[in-house]
Amino acid sequence: MAENRAEFLAAAQALLGPRGLTRDPELVTPWLTDWRDRFTGRALALASPTSTAEVAGLLRLCTLHRIPIVPQGGNSGMSGGATPGADGGELLLSLRRMNTIRALETAARQVTAEAGVILETLHKAAEDQGLRFPLSLGGKGSATVGGLVSTNAGGTQVLRHGSMRALVLGLEAVLPDGSVFDATIPLKKDNRGFDLKQLLIGSEGTLGIVTAATLRLVPAVAERRVIWAGLDSIVAARELLLHCEAAEGDALEGFEVLPDHCLDRVVAFLPGARSPLAGAHRWHALIELVADASGAETLGERAEAMIATAFERGLVADAAIASNEAQAEAFWQLRENIAPAERAGGPAVQHDVSVPLADVPGFVEAVVPAVEARFPGTRAVAFGHLGDGNVHFHVLAPPATNDAAAWQENEGKTISRFVHDQVTHWHGSISAEHGIGQLKRDELARLGDPVALALMARVKTALDPLGIMNPGKLL
Ligand SMILES: Cc1cc2nc3c(=O)[nH]c(=O)nc-3n(C[C@H](O)[C@H](O)[C@H](O)COP(=O)(O)OP(=O)(O)OC[C@H]3O[C@@H](n4cnc5c(N)ncnc54)[C@H](O)[C@@H]3O)c2cc1C
Repeated sequence: MAENRAEFLAAAQALLGPRGLTRDPELVTPWLTDWRDRFTGRALALASPTSTAEVAGLLRLCTLHRIPIVPQGGNSGMSGGATPGADGGELLLSLRRMNTIRALETAARQVTAEAGVILETLHKAAEDQGLRFPLSLGGKGSATVGGLVSTNAGGTQVLRHGSMRALVLGLEAVLPDGSVFDATIPLKKDNRGFDLKQLLIGSEGTLGIVTAATLRLVPAVAERRVIWAGLDSIVAARELLLHCEAAEGDALEGFEVLPDHCLDRVVAFLPGARSPLAGAHRWHALIELVADASGAETLGERAEAMIATAFERGLVADAAIASNEAQAEAFWQLRENIAPAERAGGPAVQHDVSVPLADVPGFVEAVVPAVEARFPGTRAVAFGHLGDGNVHFHVLAPPATNDAAAWQENEGKTISRFVHDQVTHWHGSISAEHGIGQLKRDELARLGDPVALALMARVKTALDPLGIMNPGKLL
């Protein structure tokens, strides 16, 4: 085995050159732990190819020498999918040096970007042409096109524009045997059988390496209105969402909810932060309306009318429309600091779940008290993308918990199983947008539909018969 690895390393070094393959611990170690610090692995080496041809050559070598591969983009994933296992035999394959924007076509409103292009760079490139890529998330300074495609990432604009599945128009990927699947040129209509790019989207590096994607762009935002609303219940939040969709469906880009104690934690954590509303409210909604040049002039009036009728219908207890960009940003900061505020407060277990849209209020109202009753001293927090049926369901450890790691490993796992059981009971998904990775693999095996799991296993075997693509993840 050692001889085999040595032969592989020599051939890979010759293929990729001195910068393309390293075993230097200083260069490799920073990439061996996931963003949430839950998993740390070891790697045979770190490969950083610069072209699709190099990726193809490398995968041929991996197949020849039976070397398992762990693809990695920005390492901002939430499920440990880009972290190698413990045995040190897997090749960490970074796509970060493949970071060219191959073409940005303004008339067609599409961009073809290599896998290593960082989301923030993509945003800037589109903005420079009066366009925008309508997907954003907290990890945008690290997350790459390849990672976003491979996890079918979501974020705060899914309500209007969909997740990556809806934004990928074309794809280029290298399969384990080194063949290149090239479907980067999008066709609006194409019925030549299976849509193979959809198979690769969300496959978390278990079927092939995404090397480039052609992505949909939309006109730049000319005007936005950000609204903070105080509500009596999550049921009222759902009614308000339906009201906003009916009034401004084409402009409604974000609809986030959070409970009062979640806002209190952020306000206590974030220097200079304060609640946008004077009174106390059990629930809060953050709403964003956007318009391109064609609807910019009337957006302010429309936002006011939408909120006025919500007041008349008794859907909101109080509301504030941000009066300028700085205030709009301050509202969003409250939402974006939920995770950092939580982390500063002590251990917690996080669940990224979804249930059918209409069931979100019922789910939250049933499962929050059920968790707190079953695990005394814990606090359950449900917040997030109400408009997508996607709730981040976090459970905070009892305040006196000293050993965070032990709590997470023992009680935390029991809590997660309980939450996932509830989600399954409500016909939901245990992974709405973060993927399965190694974090939820056993839970997917425990709770997934056996027919769907068997189908996925057959697809995996067909595309990756040697099982070298990101072993131990997803399936
Ligand atoms: C602060 C913060 C906020 C976040 N908010 C959101 C959010 O709102 N919504 C959301 O969906 N996610 C969110 N994320 C998670 C994360 O940013 C996304 O999952 C993102 O898509 C990961 O991209 P990446 O390049 O970092 O991928 P990595 O973490 O490097 O990899 C993720 C997975 O994709 C595979 N992979 C990576 N590149 C390739 C490739 N080229 N070919 C094949 N497989 C590949 C890896 O093997 C792994 O399984 C957040 C992360 C952070 C840190």
